[in-house]
Amino acid sequence: MISFEPTEDQRLISETVLEFAKTTLSPRAREFEQAGAVAPDVRRSVQEMQLALAAFPEEMGGQSLGLLTSLIINEELALGDPAAPFGLPGFGAFPLAALELGGARTQELLQPFSAEGDGAFGAVAWSELKAHPSRAGFSCVARETDAGYQLDGQKAFVGNANLADCFIVFAQVDESAGWGGLGAFVVPRNTDGLSVGERHRTLGLDCADFRSLELQAVKLPGAARLAPELSAEEFTRAVVRFFAKYSLIVAARQVGLSRSAFETAREYCDIRQAFGKPIGHFQAVAFTLADRHMDGESASALCRRAAWCWDSGKPEAECLLRTAQAVAHAHEAAMRCADDAVQLHGGAGFMRDVIVEKMMRDAKQMALVGMTAEQMDQLAAALEVRGELDPALVLPTPETQSIFI
Ligand SMILES: Cc1cc2nc3c(=O)[nH]c(=O)nc-3n(C[C@H](O)[C@H](O)[C@H](O)COP(=O)(O)OP(=O)(O)OC[C@H]3O[C@@H](n4cnc5c(N)ncnc54)[C@H](O)[C@@H]3O)c2cc1C
Repeated sequence: MISFEPTEDQRLISETVLEFAKTTLSPRAREFEQAGAVAPDVRRSVQEMQLALAAFPEEMGGQSLGLLTSLIINEELALGDPAAPFGLPGFGAFPLAALELGGARTQELLQPFSAEGDGAFGAVAWSELKAHPSRAGFSCVARETDAGYQLDGQKAFVGNANLADCFIVFAQVDESAGWGGLGAFVVPRNTDGLSVGERHRTLGLDCADFRSLELQAVKLPGAARLAPELSAEEFTRAVVRFFAKYSLIVAARQVGLSRSAFETAREYCDIRQAFGKPIGHFQAVAFTLADRHMDGESASALCRRAAWCWDSGKPEAECLLRTAQAVAHAHEAAMRCADDAVQLHGGAGFMRDVIVEKMMRDAKQMALVGMTAEQMDQLAAALEVRGELDPALVLPTPETQSIFI
């Protein structure tokens, strides 16, 4: 039987988080934006609600509620402030990367996120600004030493690098194996040779912090390498799963933003009058509103379906296809919703004190997290045409995307 009814747990969580989003996040979104961070009391409240690891297994400090519940949480939080989850403890990419790639160290890496207190931050350092000049793969390299590994290189766009106690850094282990020669390493913040750069100035998501990382002769023990027992192919598949699931969570935030942009625009179109009637009574405006509502609803349905596939243990190719469809659609839908919300506000739309301009900036920036809409389109297309694909070809790296060649 197919059901669109949430479980009792999901309904309760959804109502609680939505209430919190509306009463706490939404009224304070501009305060967080100006401060460049989510306020500590709000971080603490979210930590107390134990939302971050809802989808994670209980033995890992989670609640075993599944990815779908996590999507619901992220969607409702984003309805209050789409930027806030990027600045909340435990809501970044680190816990998911630890779950998919942590191997024997997963439990230890996840422990700080469920501990009592203000909550922990971790960070994932994947992206690089420049491709390697002469080979495929990362410029950041991890060379084996007698004692373990030495890491050298630079990383970019690392979320919460300023707050993280611990990093998962991706680096080239086998320089002759291209994108098949990657490894992931746990690097504690105070490790010699690791330095965090200045905060990047960004388009949106202002309450979250993004920085570069510099790794100079960073010496790590052998145990710092995650899941060394995985073959190159298994490791790549785990990385793809991590990116797919994290991108799906970000897509759920886009759904929250879409719903919020639509609601804000609809209210404004009721109030704003032109030629003696609310502007929403003009057909062109009404059609735009109806289309944007459809965008939010369809994105939500696709995202939830994809999460349901992962939770139900469907074959990986099916989960990835559903995820690719959902993420690509959610990003594009959110951009349309935010763009039209600005447009329907007319001159008020580009005023900094009207919230829709922030939604537009946040939506654009979210569309560039993890696997982008274009990369998800490529992934969906490859799965549709070939059925199977080489996961190394769909990671979010510039040179790996020619999957039809
Ligand atoms: C809010 C935010 C948070 C982030 N957090 C982190 C983080 O914590 N850690 C981290 O390491 N990185 C982080 N990033 C970086 C993010 O992962 C990258 O921006 C993303 O993977 C895109 O990679 P890129 O910048 O190298 O773009 P590129 O891969 O160079 O892409 C450039 C453009 O080309 C398009 N493109 C690429 N491939 C294809 C293709 N095959 N077909 C069609 N078009 C294509 C892309 O969609 C994009 O429009 C974050 C980014 C944002 C915006």
